[in-house]
This record gives sequence, C-alpha cells and structure tokens, in this order.
Amino acid sequence: MPELPEVEVVRRGIADWVVGRTVAQVQVLHPRATRAHILGERDFCDRLAGRTIAEVNRRGKFMWLVLDDESAVVIHLGMSGQVLVQPADAAPEKHLRIRATFTDGQRAMHFVDQRTFGGMRIDELVPDASGILVPESVAHIAPDPLDDKFDLPAVSAAISLKDTEIKRILLDQNMLSGIGNIYADEALWLSQIHGATRASALTLEQIQALIVHATKVMAAALDQGGTSFDSLYVNVNGESGYFSRDLNAYGREKEPCHRCGTPMVRERFMNRSSFSCPTCQPLPAGK
Ligand SMILES: [Zn+2]
Repeated sequence: MPELPEVEVVRRGIADWVVGRTVAQVQVLHPRATRAHILGERDFCDRLAGRTIAEVNRRGKFMWLVLDDESAVVIHLGMSGQVLVQPADAAPEKHLRIRATFTDGQRAMHFVDQRTFGGMRIDELVPDASGILVPESVAHIAPDPLDDKFDLPAVSAAISLKDTEIKRILLDQNMLSGIGNIYADEALWLSQIHGATRASALTLEQIQALIVHATKVMAAALDQGGTSFDSLYVNVNGESGYFSRDLNAYGREKEPCHRCGTPMVRERFMNRSSFSCPTCQPLPAGK
C-alpha cells in the first residue's frame, strides 16, 4: 500500500509532464477504475476531454489533478495503482485501466492497476475547514505534516486533549493525514513512546516531537523515492525498494533494538502489526 512519500513521488513525476497540457481523449478500459465516479464512465471521459491540467496536488495519500473548470480528478492508487506517462504510441500495459491522450500528441497518461482497488473520479473543488480549496471527497482529510499549511502547534494542542491511544490518532486522517502504519511505528520508536499511550498522558512537547519525527522519516523516504524513478516511468508499488531503507521499528520483530539491543516485539493494533522496543517504549501503566 503506497504511503505519503510514495504518492508524493508519483505526484512530482506526473506534474512534470501533465501540468499545462490539455486532455484530448479519455478511454476507460475497466469499469472498476471509475466506479467512484457516480455519474459513470461516459461522464468521466466527457468531462475530462478538453480540460487543461492546472496543477497536481496531494494531501496525505490522496492526489488530484486540478482542472481549469474548478473541478479535479482524484486519483486513488489503491494497493497496486501506477500512473505512467508514456509515449503516445506505446503499447498498452496488461493491466491498463484508464488512458488519457493530450492535444500535443506527444505523450499519454496511463493508469495501470493490477488489483483494481484504485481508480479515479472527478470532484468539484470545495473549501475545507480552513477555507482551502480541495476536491469534495478530500475535504474531510486534515492537512499532512509535509504541507505548508500544516499548523504543528495547533494540531499538537488538539491531540493533547484526546483520551485516545496515540497511535490511533496518528493513523486517523481527520487530525493529521498521511502517516501510515510504517511511519507511525518509526516515529513512536524515535520518540520512545508506546503506541497505546493515551495522548492526554503525553506532554505537548512529546506530541510535537512525535509529529516532527514522523515528518522527518517521511521526508527521508521521499528523498530516497525521489531518486529511484525517471520521469518517463513513474512507478508506485508498496513492495518496491522504498521500504527496504533503514527502518528502526517496522518489520524488526525479534531483532535487536538499534538503541538498547533489546529484541523488538510485534503486537496487533487496529488489525495491523505494530513493532516497538519493550525497553525504550514501555507499555503505559494499566495495559
Ligand atoms: Zn530499545
């Protein structure tokens, strides 16, 4: 499952090619790819044709193309979605789901998705809680920590009032977005906090430091991902090399903690695996 850094890598790769270009024609080759577009695939194709792409934006794991008519194409990569910018005469990929050509005739944008969990929809742009224009289906998603508009002190203060397990809050896209399971575990390890600790039991400084750690881990992953693709073949794949970078917590069950040497443990949390050091990140009292 692609996380924020992987989606940002794709966003940058697409933006280089599509911004300022006008869509000529759109083909949907699998109905599931536009199932989230309520008015159906014919409407999706008709509305996108002739539109110029003004920007490619992202919030958390959501990415969208801003069109020149105050709407946007929201792209969900799902489990295996890829967005490729290909030569216009390139042969279709085996799992090609949506293809858009541009009026300059040079390149085509291909949405390839083997498992068909991903897809696209066209949304109106609406103001979010802070008055920022975002696609309607993204309006409930809070800004992510890599966003210029992310307000660290305000978000930290809001989190400190919650009597909820801190890892649950990190993964909740309504408080701050884009921190997936892997980055949450890494940030908790760096901060020496167990994910089951109640947010209200942490100091404001601890919460701020935790978010800063999550931001740094994601920025480091982004730096790695940003060097491993070329602009003709923008690839996002949860099983690709991005996750093989040095991780301190995630996936390290029974391996020695990089800080104290204690074997790391794996626990179930929100139907996922959580990895932590039992010495550096003790369970809160009563757990
Ligand atoms: Zn340790």
